[in-house]
Amino acid sequence: MRVVGIETVRRILCVFPRYTSSFGTFEYSYPLTDGVQAFMPPQGLLLIAAYLPAHWQVRFIDENIRPATTEDFEWAEAVLVSGMHIQRQQMNDICRRAHAFDLAAAIGGPSVSACPDYYPSFDYLHVGELGDATDDLITRLAHDPSRPERQVVLKTADRLDMTKFPIPAYELADIKRYFLASIQYSSGCPYQCEFCDIPGLYGRNPRLKTPRQITAELDRLLECGATGSVYFVDDNFIGNRKAAVDLLPHLVEWQKKTGYVMRLACEATLNIAKRPEILEKMREAFFVTIFCGIETPDPDALKAMQKDHNMMVPILEGVHTINRYGMEVVSGIIMGLDTDKPETGNALLAFVDESRIPLLTINLLQALPKTPLWNRLERDNRLIDDENRDSNVDFLLPYDHVVNSWRKCMEIAYQPEKLYARFQHQVDFTYANRLPLPASAQQRTWANIKRGLIMLRNIFWKVGVLGDYRKVFWKFALSRLRHGDIEGLISVTLIAHHLIMFARAASGGQQNASNYSLRLREASVPAE
Ligand code: SF4
Repeated sequence: MRVVGIETVRRILCVFPRYTSSFGTFEYSYPLTDGVQAFMPPQGLLLIAAYLPAHWQVRFIDENIRPATTEDFEWAEAVLVSGMHIQRQQMNDICRRAHAFDLAAAIGGPSVSACPDYYPSFDYLHVGELGDATDDLITRLAHDPSRPERQVVLKTADRLDMTKFPIPAYELADIKRYFLASIQYSSGCPYQCEFCDIPGLYGRNPRLKTPRQITAELDRLLECGATGSVYFVDDNFIGNRKAAVDLLPHLVEWQKKTGYVMRLACEATLNIAKRPEILEKMREAFFVTIFCGIETPDPDALKAMQKDHNMMVPILEGVHTINRYGMEVVSGIIMGLDTDKPETGNALLAFVDESRIPLLTINLLQALPKTPLWNRLERDNRLIDDENRDSNVDFLLPYDHVVNSWRKCMEIAYQPEKLYARFQHQVDFTYANRLPLPASAQQRTWANIKRGLIMLRNIFWKVGVLGDYRKVFWKFALSRLRHGDIEGLISVTLIAHHLIMFARAASGGQQNASNYSLRLREASVPAE
């Protein structure tokens, strides 16, 4: 299906917009690293970059690392942009800058696919996944790269089979500057949680790459300098259980072959706890983290949001089962649900204590367009378009109560003593269950040792000497040092530092209560 017969050569500038501070981007950790500047390389834009005709010249700029310059725009013949709703203003800003150089600007990705009307100034809207719309866009740019007279909307009707996806153009990105490397095996999710836009955007029958594609992508990531962790960005790693079972032996083989240099992470529904055969293979493949959208410990709330599958095993039991296979659970939590009561915040804090989950992304409910939640709230006249609020939902509880409750939860859950106690529990009862790794030559490279030393220096100075929670830090650090666990010391400190600093800003009202909220984002939009 890939466009053939194109002879013209084009220069395409792919620009990924900045995202603002959020709980899940770990930017407070970056100063402790050896030069990390951004969270994850954008799969979508790098995929499109790889799909363009091989003889076209492509430049990729991630504005989280550096802004696109005058020289970049002067070089280009057209600009491609992709991103999520939270980057909407930044994407429109890139379009404005492209137009200042009279360049055609095209936008694709999840945000424009759900809400084309958010992007009135772009010349081309690419709605949907990689497919016939992409071929159409490429053909049009090959024919004439100048700006069309009016906006052209291209909608994918025929999606490209994922087995035909090229490897994303990781070589265009400075992979070492990212906190995590990313990879995608499947797209879509069979469930229909009320608040989620994934099934609507990507379908309920997950589409798949082949295991061979994944191991080839992992090889490419290694060649491009990835070290540390690779995150499977699949909406639900067990959305198609058979596919997960098919892939895992290949990952185990790949890890053995490459000396276990990568720690793996993914997102999956909590009912993965019912699949010991999958968990065992994940342990062997050295998966160390699973993000589970637990959302709430309240069964009535789970029922109301159509997330009953979270109750297939009691939640705490599910978390502990996953822990027994050496994997730490990261949990998504939502506050502001219709089922919330005045005491929900306290119940949530009790759950944090009981589950011993260190990292919970606690957000206020936000209605995303094209979700069942959006439709219901629209019908009930409960959507509020006000950028001064942290959510577009008219909560049943008073707004100030919900936001204050969120702030209190952030403040208490991420007190350094509490957070490090939860991490210590993970060290003792989760990490201890991990595969004992053979000391491989690939891990003991000079580059890895140097990287570790730089991070240790930064951690000891910025947290151990200058940090105001240094007492708590040293208690944990000395215990790790006594066990010779330098890697555990570094990885926990990086995450903990971000959580502590972010939560302080959040409880002080300087961070948004929702990853989707536009409040506080305006000031940080321009990349220049
Ligand atoms: S299980 Fe996760 S990805 Fe699937 S619909 Fe629910 S929230 Fe979305």
